[in-house]
Amino acid sequence: MKSLLFSLLLLVVLKTQAQKHLLVDTHNDVLSSQLFTKADLGKLQSIGNFDLIRAAKGGLDAQVFSIWCDETLGDGQAFARANEEIDSLYALIKRNPKKMVLVNSAAELKQAYKQGRFAAMIGIEGGHMIEDRMDYLDSLAKRGMRYLTLTWNNSTPWATSARDEATGKLKHPGLNDKGRQIVRRMNTLGVMVDISHVGEATFNDVLATTSKPVIASHSSAYSLNPHRRNLKDEQLKALAKNGGVAFVNFYSGFIDPDYDAKEQLFLINHAKDLDSLNKLYGPYAPMKLNELYKAESDKMRPPLSMLIQHIDHMVKIAGIDHVGIGSDFDGSESYPIGLDSVTDYPKIAVELRKLGYKEEAIGKIFGGNFLRIFAENVSK
Ligand SMILES: [Zn+2]
Repeated sequence: MKSLLFSLLLLVVLKTQAQKHLLVDTHNDVLSSQLFTKADLGKLQSIGNFDLIRAAKGGLDAQVFSIWCDETLGDGQAFARANEEIDSLYALIKRNPKKMVLVNSAAELKQAYKQGRFAAMIGIEGGHMIEDRMDYLDSLAKRGMRYLTLTWNNSTPWATSARDEATGKLKHPGLNDKGRQIVRRMNTLGVMVDISHVGEATFNDVLATTSKPVIASHSSAYSLNPHRRNLKDEQLKALAKNGGVAFVNFYSGFIDPDYDAKEQLFLINHAKDLDSLNKLYGPYAPMKLNELYKAESDKMRPPLSMLIQHIDHMVKIAGIDHVGIGSDFDGSESYPIGLDSVTDYPKIAVELRKLGYKEEAIGKIFGGNFLRIFAENVSK
């Protein structure tokens, strides 16, 4: 009897120790996919990974929405597309003014959190969306851009990407004068410099140029999966020295070193379906293919423990003040088992507790580190 009472007491103590933390995710692509799906994100959706209802259920308090298009939209189109996606976020906020608000600073984020309103922020993914124009950079900052990912997979004339640097054929990898000018301008505008997707030469040039701490909005650990989109240990250390934060990406292909090979085979086996889905859904065809063959694609997903290993490794190398969450939800076709949507973040906290992480440490990873670096970049 005594031991039963003791276990019950212990359970109560453990339960009360599991706190709700401010939760910020720095990378979600739903605004770009919404152009295809036309989903109303204020209502519960059966497709994709995000809507306001599921965000509330998962304890998500703030989201940086990624604004993205690929390089096929060139000058004269990419900036317009960025504005179109921002318009759709503004419209969503207008339809749900009590539930959500656009925030432009750490102070505004804290205020929204206090009011129980979902805080939305804007990150532009891909320097090509400013079309090499400083006035476009200024204009997007004015509309709420709080980070710019200097490149997507494609390089810009002023910054080279991880994909292009990996070819080994670039004559001048890294930032050029214009690139350095853009980084400095971002520092003064309060737009965080995002080094996810850039190559190592650009990464090093950014750290030599920036006067503010920088972010990797959605990148995981290279030493656990040597993918060019992940950060090497020396990069994680350099980022920590700069005061920066690396936000872990959930995508199965960045987490599990075996995923790519499995996926390639899957795509070859279903090439016909993929071809017809491509015509309908463009870059979102792989997501649709996974839905079509759910049992088969589910089998390819890595266990959640593998994602936790990435977080733990990044904390061990960069330090607890330099790691956060940047899921890449709605931007990838596969995530570890158990992570199906924004309802599932609490599972990460549960796993971190099992590894011995204290509530203070989990609080830093979930939102504290973002709040700190946001305040350091935006003085308002
Ligand atoms: Zn990305």
